[in-house]
Amino acid sequence: MGRIIDALTGDQDKCEIPGHGSDAALPQGHGLAFTAEVERATAAAYERVKDVVPAVEWPLLAPYVHAINQLKAERNAVVLAHNYMTPDVFGCVGDIRGDSLQLAREATRTSADVIVQAGVYFMAETAKILNPRKTVLIPDLRAGCSLAASITARDVRLMREAHPGVPVVTYVNSSAEVKAESDVCCTSSNAVQVTEWAAAEWGTDKVIVIPDEYLARNVATQTSIRIITWQGRCEVHERFTAADVANLKQSFPGALVLAHPECPPDVLAAADYAGSTAALADWVQKNAPAKVVLLTECSMSDNVAQGSPTTEFVRPCNLCPHMKRITLASIYEALRDLKHEVEVPESVALRARTAIERMLALPPSARPLDFVTGRPPVDVVAMHFT
Ligand code: SF4
Repeated sequence: MGRIIDALTGDQDKCEIPGHGSDAALPQGHGLAFTAEVERATAAAYERVKDVVPAVEWPLLAPYVHAINQLKAERNAVVLAHNYMTPDVFGCVGDIRGDSLQLAREATRTSADVIVQAGVYFMAETAKILNPRKTVLIPDLRAGCSLAASITARDVRLMREAHPGVPVVTYVNSSAEVKAESDVCCTSSNAVQVTEWAAAEWGTDKVIVIPDEYLARNVATQTSIRIITWQGRCEVHERFTAADVANLKQSFPGALVLAHPECPPDVLAAADYAGSTAALADWVQKNAPAKVVLLTECSMSDNVAQGSPTTEFVRPCNLCPHMKRITLASIYEALRDLKHEVEVPESVALRARTAIERMLALPPSARPLDFVTGRPPVDVVAMHFT
């Protein structure tokens, strides 16, 4: 089975995750119980996650899994689960699972009446923009994002004024208002493709790529298009350093280091492989390395480990506190009480939808984007207004 090693302590299979492990909410608080029927009904779900969820925790989690699956059937609901969800959410109640691009694409195809976003608020807004007549729920209103919060619609308008005629490519990790000011959206899976498309479409050699400075700088190493960006960062990925890569390689000989493009460019340069969330998962599953380190959000290792039984995962544990607000208990309450419903004003949704749909209309690439590692940095203009 896939094993997890805490990179800081060396402990195996003992990394605790909020909403999981000792912090897990007790089902007794919701009047749910671990009965023989619940155990039977959730046996297949546990089989999927047994390598990353200790058996002693299952009686606490299974009643929620069972109740959520019953509520989904009653309400004709689906759960969109991002890769950064804890494995109990991702593997046991997620109906559509993947990175932002996969979730956005699938959100346009579902026939469900209710969509529960097991992810953060901007993802729920995207689901609502693409499904204006469906009920979209976010289980915890506090599930925000440091990157999305770094930029406002006014900032985008000021950038346009400073660079007239230059198209704006906006990472989906942004608010609906910011998407509405943009020409086209991108994800880490297609950022280079979208940037080159925008440059060709607008007949320019310059593109504004916002709000993630590091993603933009990493895109700049892969294309000849000149990039203007914003000083926004993901608080999870910005913490990784090139020194971490060197230390991990020294402490865990033979381990391959894989990095997400929201990490700083010198981290990607030092890594063995770099790619989007989907590309990292794909790469591990296809190459089945003996030992691997994923420089991205902590739960990715748990979720990729479910399909990689022969790979050992070393985990330098950087948690996204916003993603971890979504738990089985909060999903259960959201479905039970149909809360918290996400609304996007139509005047904003209309323009944001155009930007998202332009991205979705591009031909899907044969495989998720990977980044050529070891590339030297490229000069990029990074803006910020106070
Ligand atoms: S991992 Fe980073 S980009 Fe993703 S939700 Fe958390 S803070 Fe935002």
